[in-house]
Amino acid sequence: MSAEQRQTNGEVHVAIVGAGITGLAAAHRIISTNPAAKVTLFEASDRLGGIIRTEHADDYLMELGPDSFITNKPGGIQLCEEIGFTPQLIPTDNTFRRSLVLRKGKPQPVPDGFMLMAPANPWAIATTPVLSIGGKLRLLKESFVAAKTTDDDESLANFVRRRFGKETLERLVQPLVGGIYTSDPEKLSLKATLPRFLDMEREFGSVTKATLTEQKRQKAKSRQPGSSGAAAEARSGSGARYGLFTTPVAGLSSLVEALEQNLCSSGRVTICTSTPLHSVNQSSTSAASSHTVAGNWTIQLADKTSHNFDAVVVTLPTHKAAELLPAEQFSNLRNSLNAIEYASSAIVVSGHRLNDFAHPLDAFGLVVPAIENRKVLAVSFTSRKFPNRAPDGHVLLRTFVGGAMQPELLQQSDEEMSASVSSELKNILGMKAAPQFSRVVRYNHAMPQYHVGHLDLVAQIENQISQFPGLQLAGSAYHGVGIPDSIASGRTAADRVC
Ligand SMILES: Cc1cc2nc3c(=O)[nH]c(=O)nc-3n(C[C@H](O)[C@H](O)[C@H](O)COP(=O)(O)OP(=O)(O)OC[C@H]3O[C@@H](n4cnc5c(N)ncnc54)[C@H](O)[C@@H]3O)c2cc1C
Repeated sequence: MSAEQRQTNGEVHVAIVGAGITGLAAAHRIISTNPAAKVTLFEASDRLGGIIRTEHADDYLMELGPDSFITNKPGGIQLCEEIGFTPQLIPTDNTFRRSLVLRKGKPQPVPDGFMLMAPANPWAIATTPVLSIGGKLRLLKESFVAAKTTDDDESLANFVRRRFGKETLERLVQPLVGGIYTSDPEKLSLKATLPRFLDMEREFGSVTKATLTEQKRQKAKSRQPGSSGAAAEARSGSGARYGLFTTPVAGLSSLVEALEQNLCSSGRVTICTSTPLHSVNQSSTSAASSHTVAGNWTIQLADKTSHNFDAVVVTLPTHKAAELLPAEQFSNLRNSLNAIEYASSAIVVSGHRLNDFAHPLDAFGLVVPAIENRKVLAVSFTSRKFPNRAPDGHVLLRTFVGGAMQPELLQQSDEEMSASVSSELKNILGMKAAPQFSRVVRYNHAMPQYHVGHLDLVAQIENQISQFPGLQLAGSAYHGVGIPDSIASGRTAADRVC
């Protein structure tokens, strides 16, 4: 049967490379939208979920990778709804909904209402101990700073210095945004990461004006009869927009398990774990359009066996995707994929008795500005965010190390890193006794860096890939680094091959 014939009756066999959340979401989308489609998922490791990994130790529930996802981007929630998983989702706990930031060695609250860089509460800025008087005045002057008139891409650091001043960048925005992207703000593209702030500048002439206007609009809305107050809840607190985050009650791996079950019950998905791919080759070309299946892709496994598919969706980090594509055929695409840099990081997951801290840990976590020169990027007080993560009277911490700005710290052995984190927890949070357990989880070249020019680079990759109908790339490297973005990327790739 030719590729064109297959297209008319919908029969298509798609190979998906990588069974992290992107690959699983792509597989789910294919079988949901095309009743005649078959999928084979190839996964190098012996488990599904990729970076997502929940484990249990004693009465602790430990997320070793991501711990939650944002709900104002549709990808995650939509997928959960489709597989009947939403009843498993829980919101963040209200009790300690705020963030701390280190200032001169002491944890201080992020000013109330300060969301990444949007100052929703001028009084909280005026009274915060996090900024000097000069820093506060400069931040509050933002409404009067002229808006940029050009549309060129700009680094996060440049934008924040220009609008809010150097101190707000160093003391608040760098640690808050750095906690999400583990990036150097001097290189991070604002357009590719936080474009809403550019829109605010463009539409209102100021981020502050836009934030306060939106706040008034939300308040008016919440006074209307029948309002749920959800918007107000989402706004409450400081730091990240914690009201918008959710996670499965049994941990993120339970979402992976639910997806696996859903895929397997369709009878049209074959999952091959411990099966690394070696290469992807186009066995013949077709004149079909880039948005339809053009058939005839050959994949070679590490054991050197070959298999043919109508289409292939590669969901690996770009440096690994490039390795699969032979240089003779994909030289330009490989170069573009390799131009996306990745940062490495580690999480030290540790369990403690609450009484072993002088600090009450009355927040969701602490971020650490680079200028504080510490050996940790951030500490998430995970069991304060979500219930049932630690036994009563105990706390589960996740301490982040490394990232683009401190790669040298990843040279430490696991023992050295645990010891260095313990020493920081002693100094910063008054830890008085050794943790009950401590575990180091490393993520080498796992976090894509959206540097200035990222959107152009992605457009170039998409243009190059369009020359290979039936081949698609998806994952966190292209249009957003979080779980919902990865899911959305997998779904888009699925739609393009089915
Ligand atoms: C430390 C860390 C914390 C994070 N925290 C959050 C968070 O709290 N919230 C959030 O929304 N996002 C978070 N993210 C981002 C989120 O984890 C990613 O967006 C998402 O998990 C990416 O999924 P993926 O399927 O694209 O990639 P991966 O999870 O990396 O999956 C790729 C899969 O491909 C497999 N593979 C590799 N090579 C081959 C090969 N040759 N053949 C076959 N298979 C192969 C791998 O084994 C892996 O299973 C975090 C990321 C990191 C690194």
